[in-house]
Amino acid sequence: MILDFKEIPEANKGTGLQDTFELLTRDFLSYLGYRIVQDPDRGADGKKDLIVDEVIKGITSEYTIRWLVSCKHFAHSGRAVNDSDEINISDRLKQHHCDGFMGVYSTLASTSLSGILQGQEHYLVFDREKIESFLLNNLDGHKIACRYFPTSFKKYQIENPTPSKIFDNNAELCCDYCGKNLLLESEHGNYVLLYDSDTFEKEKKTVYKDMYFACCGVCDHLLREKYRKSGLNDGGWESIDELCNPTVWIMRLMAFINSIQDEHDMDKTAFEKMKKVFINTYPYIARHMTEKEKQRVKTLLAFEFM
Ligand SMILES: [Zn+2]
Repeated sequence: MILDFKEIPEANKGTGLQDTFELLTRDFLSYLGYRIVQDPDRGADGKKDLIVDEVIKGITSEYTIRWLVSCKHFAHSGRAVNDSDEINISDRLKQHHCDGFMGVYSTLASTSLSGILQGQEHYLVFDREKIESFLLNNLDGHKIACRYFPTSFKKYQIENPTPSKIFDNNAELCCDYCGKNLLLESEHGNYVLLYDSDTFEKEKKTVYKDMYFACCGVCDHLLREKYRKSGLNDGGWESIDELCNPTVWIMRLMAFINSIQDEHDMDKTAFEKMKKVFINTYPYIARHMTEKEKQRVKTLLAFEFM
């Protein structure tokens, strides 16, 4: 499990926060699209059941299933929800005029309870795993996870970074052959500096003229051939994936600045594209390092990368 449900205070402790799991349930169900009919108020009987509507739209008509939601927060003891924790389900449905029973549990439903639920016409259980997968699924879910699971969600975010919102438009480095935005691909491809082969042969001088961006493999191969025919040779490729490691990024930027100081020859086109690489990868590195990236830097340093 990524989210630690023990971050939510225990239900039976008088801390004033004992309703937090019910509030999470309300926010979670409303995020999934259920309409909240009755908030988790503590009734006279001490029960904190919630009532929600699910509107099901057909082509010409719509109908509503009214759900009675039972919240059980047993994460601190870790025990499953048993049939003895959910008694008189049919009576409770009748009393609240509900069509279906929904359990929202911070642990799991026991086999005995699952057996009883299968006798109901409409029933549904969101256990901790289902809740977690729905919350981590998209950005709206992340907002809820951040509010109710601040510690474990923060840890998850560090290890699963998304680009920071820095520029108005999404950062782009597109493959010069197929046009795919490489920053959106799981494998970010390469950027390749090109030098003028004529000048190199005549004056033994490397003058970088241009740069191309490419998916690894076929696109890269085809672009290399295309530029070679026009007298530009590839002067080494670098992985954009690797560049999105915050430490590698700053090392490469420093190397680039040093090369200007050393008056390496770089024409305006190549120079501007190099700047484009750093600008567009910036949202990807303005963040904490993942453990995997820290390990990678250690390996690179061991091979005297700096
Ligand atoms: Zn491509």
